[in-house]
Amino acid sequence: MGMTSLTEIYRIGRGPSSSHTMAPEKAAMFMMNEYPAADFFRVTLMGSLAKTGRGHRTDYAIRETFGNIRCEIIWDESERELPHPNTMLMEAFKDGEKLGEAEIMSIGGGAIKVAGRPSASAPIVYEESTFTEIADYCRQNGLSLQQYVYEHEPDIKSHLRKVWEQMQQTIIKGTREEGELPGGLHVMRRAKELYFLGHRTRDLIRKEHYLISAYAYASAEENAAGGMMVTAPTCGACGILPAVLYYEKILFFTSDDEIIDALAVAGLIGQIIKTNASVSGAEAGCQAEVGSACSMAAAALCVLRGLNIMQLEAAAEMAMEHCLGLTCDPVGGLVQIPCIERNAVGALRSYDMATLAEVVFEERKVSFDVVVKTMYETGKDLSHCYRETAEGGLAKLYVNKP
Ligand code: SF4
Repeated sequence: MGMTSLTEIYRIGRGPSSSHTMAPEKAAMFMMNEYPAADFFRVTLMGSLAKTGRGHRTDYAIRETFGNIRCEIIWDESERELPHPNTMLMEAFKDGEKLGEAEIMSIGGGAIKVAGRPSASAPIVYEESTFTEIADYCRQNGLSLQQYVYEHEPDIKSHLRKVWEQMQQTIIKGTREEGELPGGLHVMRRAKELYFLGHRTRDLIRKEHYLISAYAYASAEENAAGGMMVTAPTCGACGILPAVLYYEKILFFTSDDEIIDALAVAGLIGQIIKTNASVSGAEAGCQAEVGSACSMAAAALCVLRGLNIMQLEAAAEMAMEHCLGLTCDPVGGLVQIPCIERNAVGALRSYDMATLAEVVFEERKVSFDVVVKTMYETGKDLSHCYRETAEGGLAKLYVNKP
């Protein structure tokens, strides 16, 4: 099967949702390129796109992309079989005549698939596609996981540097902002306060928790406000990996080169999950988003701590294992409750898993590849209410709806 470039995992863009804003933007651009003469587009949003698109500002993203070209958005919330839970039909018209149409799926992390077309994603650059295959290759060739990435993608470091720069900018901005997030839920930003408390307390455990949470909140709040961030692997889970990397930089003076190595390996973990399962909340629930981000962050920490490949696999596996069954039930279809808090919890959990794995890795019975498969099957078994439709869980029972 093979895997595509890590640039498919780390995308720099605007929040609040990789599948509900970044991918529809990309789909709209695809239509404008396909039908440059079109003077009107009709977009029918289906599945999760229709159910949570208003909260995620899908219509806004599409209209912005079409610019001056007229556009009609249809919210089709009917229950029916779709090729993917995030599907949209885009039709192009000129002088009232239909030029053509495309069924486009938002398949997670901002990527799209156009029905009947070869995949629009980047070419295969890794022949291996499971952790076991990659680990075997590394052992046979005497490579670390980051060396494996650089051998297959010699130019990836320049992309990872841009990614790291944006992650830091997002955190810095997010820890300075105050006030209410948009959307009507009246959620107040909390990153600045957590950051302040983290610097003030002398209690080292609380300091660690305040600061890691502050950094996770900062990215997640920026995302919720429609700011610039990096998918890691998605917008909804964009706070977890940057929080642990930034904490390591600030507290332990970790160099940018070391962080680039950690980003490379974390990206590899995310790409294995995306290739063999899904990073889409609409497809497999929040375990696919926050669970994947936890695995990526735990793996990144193992790289920074110089742990071996077995310890790293154990950390990534455990991080996912204890997110299995995590549902996606965003209140009001906004990426705020439970998403922002969940990013902080995910970042803290990544530390726990990296620390635990360092010791218990030899007792491990479950491989990373098995837990990825388990996550995907669990996701398929979840009711659609818990896959980014805002029809179950917190989204259903929350009383003060916007
Ligand atoms: S609950 Fe999780 S998967 Fe769903 S929108 Fe929030 S972060 Fe994304």
